[in-house]
Amino acid sequence: MPGYYLTTIDRSGIDKKNVCPKCDELLKEAVQTIACGHRYCKACVQDILSQVPGKCVIDGTLIQREQVFQDRFVEREIQSLTLHCVNHEHGCKWKDELRKREAHEAVCEYLKLPCVHSDCGELVTRAQLADHLEQRCQYRLDTCEYFHTQVIFAAI
Ligand SMILES: [Zn+2]
Ligand SMILES: [Zn+2]
Ligand SMILES: [Zn+2]
Ligand SMILES: [Zn+2]
Repeated sequence: MPGYYLTTIDRSGIDKKNVCPKCDELLKEAVQTIACGHRYCKACVQDILSQVPGKCVIDGTLIQREQVFQDRFVEREIQSLTLHCVNHEHGCKWKDELRKREAHEAVCEYLKLPCVHSDCGELVTRAQLADHLEQRCQYRLDTCEYFHTQVIFAAI
């Protein structure tokens, strides 16, 4: 996903001019086309330019590499937007400027990670992991059986 992920709650309140017409997410490293004045993420416009001919997805204007410039003003504005955590739908209450979101994501309790049992593969949040391991994980029984076997061996 080239743009900054927009949660459902943020999407409804966001100014449409900050949404990339190609990936439908928040503009990341915003660029503007000189020919038609539309904004894209840097990665999205590079994707367009890799096609021949590269055309604006809104109005079909031909886009040329030398006629695209980085819009640092818009990028700064977007970094200052107050947004919810990408894991908002999973229950995270975090809300702050976009520029701080990446650092939060790295420690977010609601980030979904694969279960520690590699055979399980279920995605659980850090907040749910203990509960998952004790109550839900289908591989928890293996651990149990393993320990019982240990006990039996010890008894012999
Ligand atoms: Zn984009
Ligand atoms: Zn355009
Ligand atoms: Zn979070
Ligand atoms: Zn599991």
